[in-house]
Amino acid sequence: MRHLVLTDIHANLEALDSCLADAAVRGYDDVVVLGDVVGYGADPNAVVERVRALQPMAIVRGNHDKVSCGLEAADGFNSVARAAAHWTLGALTPDNRQWVAALPKGPITVDADVEICHGSPIDEDEYIFGQSEARIALLTTKRNVCLFGHTHYPAVFESLNGTMEAARVAGAVAPELVLRTGIKYLINPGSVGQPRDGDPRAAYAIVDVLAARVEMVRLPYAVAIAQDKIRKAGLPDPLADRLAAGR
Ligand code: ZN
Repeated sequence: MRHLVLTDIHANLEALDSCLADAAVRGYDDVVVLGDVVGYGADPNAVVERVRALQPMAIVRGNHDKVSCGLEAADGFNSVARAAAHWTLGALTPDNRQWVAALPKGPITVDADVEICHGSPIDEDEYIFGQSEARIALLTTKRNVCLFGHTHYPAVFESLNGTMEAARVAGAVAPELVLRTGIKYLINPGSVGQPRDGDPRAAYAIVDVLAARVEMVRLPYAVAIAQDKIRKAGLPDPLADRLAAGR
């Protein structure tokens, strides 16, 4: 099975549509979504509707999803994130808001080889940036491949019997990863709609378990259009500015 993996779309329709068009050419069997469908971007309803139409075989909620549908208060959010979540809560249609509110908490098992979570398999809101967090998370995963998001940084962590074998983040992540038997993987495809690794291109992955291969994709999209929509919506300017910088 080829799983199309999307995470941290953040209501960026231009980025999502570019990823979907590219993924259609590469080919995939089903879709898994690692949370933060909304928040930050100007197209929460259109993005929710796209994701709903994809009928993901597995999906988990992210921290921005919880706050943007009113499930949780914006405690811990900075002023820009809080403003965006508040705007999103008002913008979502009741039906889409209910759909976001009903998204399940991770981790979730996808199949015999793959599980997904938003932040970490231990805690949906925890960030995995480096080896120390990754090592602890890998001790708890039940499948050989655990897919995560939340940091908006592409990353691949590999462990063998509880010992870290390799850790690659951002620019060090190769476009293609060969999955080896006996190794446990923690993989973040990077953010579709708000990359933060200094590369403004949208990020997603295709995990092909049968072929033991992961494609880590980066591709350009219409950043200027997404920025324009953010400014016109009255969302905070830094949310538009950062898309061009990928930070
Ligand atoms: Zn996010």
